[in-house]
Amino acid sequence: MALITKAIKGTKDVLPKEVHKNQYIEATVLDVAEKYGFKEIRTPVFEHTELFQRGVGDTTDVVQKEMYSFDDKGGRNITLRPEGTAGAARSFLESGLCNEALPQKVCYLTSCYRYEKPQAGRLREFHQFGVECFGTSSPLADAEIISLAKSVFDNLGVQDISLEINSIGCPTCRAEFHKALKEYFSTRKDDLCDTCKDRLDRNPMRILDCKSPICSEIAKDAPVVLDYLCDECKEHFEQVQKYLKAENIEYTVNPKIVRGLDYYTKTVFEFISNSIGAQGTVCGGGRYDGLIEELGGAHTPSLGFGMGLERLMLLMETQGCEFPESAKPDLFIVALGDKATLKAVEIAKDMRAEGFSCLYDLNKRSLRAQMKYADKLDAKFTIVLGDNEVEEGIAKLKNMKTGEETEIALATFVSGYYNITLSEQLADLEINGEAFDFGSLFNVGENVGE
Ligand code: ATP
Ligand code: MG
Repeated sequence: MALITKAIKGTKDVLPKEVHKNQYIEATVLDVAEKYGFKEIRTPVFEHTELFQRGVGDTTDVVQKEMYSFDDKGGRNITLRPEGTAGAARSFLESGLCNEALPQKVCYLTSCYRYEKPQAGRLREFHQFGVECFGTSSPLADAEIISLAKSVFDNLGVQDISLEINSIGCPTCRAEFHKALKEYFSTRKDDLCDTCKDRLDRNPMRILDCKSPICSEIAKDAPVVLDYLCDECKEHFEQVQKYLKAENIEYTVNPKIVRGLDYYTKTVFEFISNSIGAQGTVCGGGRYDGLIEELGGAHTPSLGFGMGLERLMLLMETQGCEFPESAKPDLFIVALGDKATLKAVEIAKDMRAEGFSCLYDLNKRSLRAQMKYADKLDAKFTIVLGDNEVEEGIAKLKNMKTGEETEIALATFVSGYYNITLSEQLADLEINGEAFDFGSLFNVGENVGE
């Protein structure tokens, strides 16, 4: 296939017949975030490369292997964001949010870019829902964002997703842990991959997150961080668990979770599903008390998570979670001839102003072709307008689902005709001698699974 009609490897279109599912997920996550006091922040898709080197960490897989970086025409080295935290943190400092009442709670829906091997649940352009809470060291906040993520899954009807938590300590206790890791991995140094040989001196904890089979095999028996926590970190971790229990949120402590980004301290967590194959981590996050300082700000303990939206969708589809139906046109006006077309334009304008979706054929085709088109579009009702109907002011309204046809005055559709609103006229309409709730038939607000 010609290059120009082929999407870049690892990218995916969302087509019109699918997009309502994405919109449903997006609306749900923003709604949940709002209930926890998180407001949306929108940051640029690219940033200075240095921000990610500093923020994400230059010994991470993301920075060492996965970033889309390039020089722009002005000679700046810029990078398409591989994650959302660094940009949000940069904005928190630059915009002065850091001087407002803390904590500042922000959330985002963003695209992210990583040069990885595409496979199920792993793309080069993917999307994240993320939250960041800047300016609190309280374990209440750790439990709160975990609760938020859990609430997203609950609201979307996702099941069988397990929460694993760990604490990876603070710089104080991590020093001891690094020493122990260095000792352990030094004995197997020759077997480590080249990247990890280098990490052994610079950041041995990163070896625990290496995806190479041999490194992960060696890492199996490595010392675990929980054995090295200082008193403060231990206490913090216990408090987080206390608050999770208070909300009846089930979890397991998995001392092997270290997360792939350098900025994490203390609490780290993942929501993992077994139903979507090897890429089972749908949401990952934790505390990053040192990040804001690392970027030049004041000491600002903070935390957040990123949830992969493609993996979430995959999970929901695999589990057969219910999605709302794609919206259908309320009324399709089949118009035959110029007069009828003008009338259709007039009716559609009023219908739309009243909140209904109303369409007519732009290609002025035959009756048959227009009915077929209305059917393809899944219109709920059609009316057929010819010269006669326009002159007499009466047309046949057809319920496309039942096939039932009713004569109806065209004036019914025109707002202000009886000096009452169109919705009221439609609600009052009598069809086949019975009071007919036209409004509710046409209405939006269909529930999930209907
Ligand atoms: P993984 O271990 O799967 O590579 P990660 O630790 O690199 O994940 P994070 O940086 O924590 O992932 O990103 C948060 C979430 O974003 C992940 O849990 C996942 O759901 C999603 N995600 C990360 N990378 C990709 C990708 N290449 N394609 C699709 N989703 C992704
Ligand atoms: Mg990764």
